[in-house]
Amino acid sequence: MSISANYAKIRQDIPDDVTIVVAAKKRTPQELIEVINAGATDIGENYVQETGHMYSALRKKAAEVKWHMIGHLQTNKINKALRIFDVIETVDSLEKAEAVNKRVVKAKKQMVPVFVEINIGSEDSKAGIRVDEQEPFEDYMENLIKEMSHLEYLQIEGLMTMGPRFGNPEDVRPYFRRTKRIFGRIKSLDLSNVNMKYLSMGMSNSYKVAIEEGANMVRIGTAVFGKRPCSID
Ligand SMILES: *Cc1c(COP(=O)(O)O)cnc(C)c1O
Repeated sequence: MSISANYAKIRQDIPDDVTIVVAAKKRTPQELIEVINAGATDIGENYVQETGHMYSALRKKAAEVKWHMIGHLQTNKINKALRIFDVIETVDSLEKAEAVNKRVVKAKKQMVPVFVEINIGSEDSKAGIRVDEQEPFEDYMENLIKEMSHLEYLQIEGLMTMGPRFGNPEDVRPYFRRTKRIFGRIKSLDLSNVNMKYLSMGMSNSYKVAIEEGANMVRIGTAVFGKRPCSID
């Protein structure tokens, strides 16, 4: 199937209130234009540099969608990231949050929506706050978000997790379920500067399970575009 047919099919199969962030790493501007023309509203990128090139190549099209940073955010790329991205999904420490906050003033002087990334499977290969380094994790997260909520230019809007990648997506269900519980707990605190709207979890092989477990944002690449030209994530 074509990119637009793939996108339309996924869009049709999942609830309307679930946002699809199209994961664009290693794709061409033509491929992105096709998916935007098919109705894509949100694009996820992993690398700041690459996104800059993509943004210029798409010209006016780029402004039709929201740009999500879904890759590891390096401190020395924050200024550039703030000029391109509408949402940063990968804040993974208080220090990173403070670094972003400090740089917002320079970039655009308005609140920046951010998500906090959790490494729910505590995997070495993944970014995000590791569950196994903080005991009990739920309390740790609650305190972390409370501290972040004092940062005046950050609007904390959600949580993001990759979750372990299993051959059978059922195996990731308990990880998604736990992330959703943490999400609910933080939401119920009702902190100022914190508006827990989005739970970003689930990829091509796991988005259905993620939605069943409460995700209202999924990040999908392969199922829209086909296999990546070079399969490094
Ligand atoms: C690549 C990527 C995705 C999408 O992965 P697919 O398996 O291609 O759907 C989602 N989230 C992040 C952070 C990614 O880097």
